Formats: sequence, C-alpha cells, structure tokens
Amino acid sequence: MGKVKKSPWLLHYDGSSCNGCDIEVLATLTPVYDAERFGVVNTGDPLQADILMITGGINQQNAPVVKQLYDQMPRPKVVVAVGTCACSGGVFRECYNMLGGADSTVPIDIYVPGCAARPESIMDGIMKAVELFQKRSDEHDQYEKEHKGEAGPVDPNINTARDKVKMQEMKGAADA
Ligand code: SF4
Repeated sequence: MGKVKKSPWLLHYDGSSCNGCDIEVLATLTPVYDAERFGVVNTGDPLQADILMITGGINQQNAPVVKQLYDQMPRPKVVVAVGTCACSGGVFRECYNMLGGADSTVPIDIYVPGCAARPESIMDGIMKAVELFQKRSDEHDQYEKEHKGEAGPVDPNINTARDKVKMQEMKGAADA
C-alpha cells in the first residue's frame, strides 16, 4: 500500500444478511486483525465517513437507508461490498423482497467475495479502499486548486440532488 496523507474514516452498514459477514468485519476492525494499523478509523457518522462498507444484500426496506448514508457522505468517497450477499444478493437473491447486491442501490468500487468473507479478504478490500480514497482525494485537491476563485462549474463537493436544490435556493435568496 502506498503512502496515505489522510486516515479515512470507515462506516459499516449491515443490510439483510445472516450476520456472518458482520462478525468477520468486527473481527477485522477490532484488535484481533486490527485494521486501524492501516490508517482507517471506525465511525458511526456518515457525515464524517470516507469509506462505506456494506454487508448483506439490499431489500426494499433498507435500500433508502443505504442510499441516504451514501448521499450523506462527503466526496471523495469509496464504497466496499463485503461478502457474497453484498456483491450479488447471495443466498437471498431469489427472495421476493430482494433488489440484489449493494450495487443495485449505490455504486460499488470494491467487491470482497466470500461466504462469509474472511478477515484477510476484508483487510485486502480495506487497503484497496484506502488507496483509492487517497487517489480520489488527490484528484479532488487538484480540481479545487485549478478552479480556485472561479464562479460557475458545479462544485464537486455537491453530493446530492437535494444539496443542489438547497444551493440554488441559497443563491436565489442572495440574488434577491
Ligand atoms: S455472504 Fe454468507 S456469511 Fe455473508 S451475510 Fe451472506 S450468507 Fe451470511
């Protein structure tokens, strides 16, 4: 893994799973495997998170939750699907209420297969996520540097359609 400038904060969300992958994620994050030695910090706050780690498949009830968590995270961000259920729906794939894997709802950057995914594989996924996050952060910083002081193009920090509407409202109020 290359040098990283920031310690990304990691948010874990469990979709509709058997909890097997969650136990492995917890083992990975806690001192047994100690993912924090690679610079990540576990958080429960999407507003502060840089990496979203999803276990379990997506159903009609949890899809809006996953979407909201993703939208609340600032850019740049990276999403990791952990386990066969999060990658494709797994053993729950044919259930009447399932939409599929995590990529049925949010864009996934890294897939960690396995039923359950082993801590070594999860650790590998985290390291890839940290590298990708660093790359995106550098691109983001470069964009900001090149467009400093410019009015106009869409701010890459705007995450959601809701934020865009809010920005337009604020601009309208300022112009009035
Ligand atoms: S991939 Fe296997 S262990 Fe992981 S949540 Fe699905 S069924 Fe459980």
